[in-house]
Amino acid sequence: MTSSHSFRLRILRSGSSGNAIFLEAAGTRLIIDVGLPAEVMARELDSIPGASPITAILLTHEHDDHAKGAGALSRLLDAPVLANAGTLAAAGDLLAGVSTERFVTGVPFRVGGVQVEAFPVPHDAVEPVGFVVSDNGGRMVIATDLGGVTDDLLARARDADALILEANYDLRLLSVSPYPWFLKNRILSPTGHLSNDAAARAVVEVASDRPQTVFLVHLSDINNLTPLARDTVQWALEREGIAAVRVEAVRPNGTSPLWEMQ
Ligand SMILES: [Zn+2]
Ligand SMILES: [Zn+2]
Repeated sequence: MTSSHSFRLRILRSGSSGNAIFLEAAGTRLIIDVGLPAEVMARELDSIPGASPITAILLTHEHDDHAKGAGALSRLLDAPVLANAGTLAAAGDLLAGVSTERFVTGVPFRVGGVQVEAFPVPHDAVEPVGFVVSDNGGRMVIATDLGGVTDDLLARARDADALILEANYDLRLLSVSPYPWFLKNRILSPTGHLSNDAAARAVVEVASDRPQTVFLVHLSDINNLTPLARDTVQWALEREGIAAVRVEAVRPNGTSPLWEMQ
């Protein structure tokens, strides 16, 4: 098919100090989460050939590391911010004077040439969601932040061409880390963050015979190691004899290469 059916994806930043994803499909260019200052975002986007104009900015939830730059970037790029009612209300001041559009969690909607569906994830925000973005050529699933993997997520991620999944911590590193207990308990809670082991189980569960790419994101720089997150998922796949899944772990506060699916 024509190049308009190719997916392009780049994790612009990943981790507790800021998250943002660039995603392009069917000529529609989306930013998912803006946990960085708008000027930094603009610089990152400049490094991607043909990354403008941005069609829309989507938010998973209102936490600062996902939303703090959304209003400023919206004004800078003249792109609307799309989120559900809970996130729009909770983001409040951040989005003052910004063009916003509301979607309903669970109800598919179109943005330009792609279909998007937001689905609920368990996390300690007002109305946190993951996204399925699809066109005729492919399907991509984004799930961060989340305290556990739901059957709903597994069903949506099965056979996806790309899965962007949180792998926040290694349980052993978290247990010996200098984090205070209240913070450890928050991370471990069913509405906190996802462990490498839980991410690995999910990836095994959704793998198919088709080539799939998994991006592990939101790695903690204290409670995780980039090679450990990748190997935990890779070993789980190897134990099950699954060879078609490629695993990329994005280092804390790092950026992924530009990924393209033809
Ligand atoms: Zn969060
Ligand atoms: Zn986060």
